[in-house]
Amino acid sequence: RLNNEVIELKGNIRVFCRCRPLNENEIANGSAVSVVNFESNSEELQVVCSDSSKKQFKFDHVFKPEDNQEAVFAQTKPIVASVLDGHNVCIFAYGQTGTGKTFTMEGTPEHRGVNYRTLEELFRVSEERQGTIKYELLVSMLEVYNEKIKDLLAGNSSEATKKLEVKQAADGTQEVPGLVETHVYGADGVWEILKSGNRVRSVGSTSANELSSRSHCLVRVTVMGENLINGQRTKSHLWLVDLAGSERVGKTEAEGERLKESQFINKSLSSLGDVIAALASKSAHIPYRNSKLTHILQSSLGGDCKTLMFVQISPSSVDLTETLCSLNFATRVR
Ligand code: ADP
Ligand code: MG
Repeated sequence: RLNNEVIELKGNIRVFCRCRPLNENEIANGSAVSVVNFESNSEELQVVCSDSSKKQFKFDHVFKPEDNQEAVFAQTKPIVASVLDGHNVCIFAYGQTGTGKTFTMEGTPEHRGVNYRTLEELFRVSEERQGTIKYELLVSMLEVYNEKIKDLLAGNSSEATKKLEVKQAADGTQEVPGLVETHVYGADGVWEILKSGNRVRSVGSTSANELSSRSHCLVRVTVMGENLINGQRTKSHLWLVDLAGSERVGKTEAEGERLKESQFINKSLSSLGDVIAALASKSAHIPYRNSKLTHILQSSLGGDCKTLMFVQISPSSVDLTETLCSLNFATRVR
């Protein structure tokens, strides 16, 4: 095994918390009170509740508002690299809309996120190993909206409208037959491919942030390895998941389509929580089938698969209730 640069992980499930900075609006309109305090150990944070009581939370790592994309990826790298050793890996960004899920995963052209950096790292390590292992990398991208799967890399072809389903493959793993897989040969082309997939995300709503907040966006990297010395072949998946916003929709706002959407979101996020909690407690029954999201990811969650959850939070007092919900969700899966 060529894993000398893969740091040994403590367990298969890790939870990182990342708190975004206060934004200009919050500073301008006076809601700039941060209710989140950080400890120097990078593992704990404290939330000051509205009655001034304090709640303490502990994670595998806590990223402060000033921690940049490099700092986040430095902690994420060992987990993504394990896909080259044949492990399946899932990385999720969970949290209220506006807390930085997309910033962490996708990033911006100037501050690229985990998705791009992951591919860059996989290419870097595979180049290092090229004398012993030949790797082939493929990228797929899909969206889950209202329990329906949409291929984001199918373009305008007839594939784009084809109904996708999760099926059991001959080897017993869960697959999405017909999903487009695009070969990637270097980090250069990857940013464009991911961007083209994001342009296709289309949900009938008004603002850009709204539509992305109601669907899950999944990037799948398939790694095929061939050991040039002993001929051994491996195939593994790495999933990079930007989840739908976890915020509770107010009863008055929610009717019709919006109510249906929020029910689907609640169901899939709570199913994901149930699955990870069941895995963490080594439960005999793992309820993968309760949502499309967990069903798609079934073969990459559990066993010797690695899971990383980013719990994204806002520092603002205005978001206190949602922040506590997200932190409690994360505590449950840890
Ligand atoms: P979400 O996907 O959870 O709805 P976004 O990723 O769209 O949230 O983030 C909301 C806004 O906050 C964006 O403008 C984003 O660039 C900014 N932002 C989020 N996290 C950070 C961060 N850690 N540093 C700087 N800006 C951030
Ligand atoms: Mg987003």
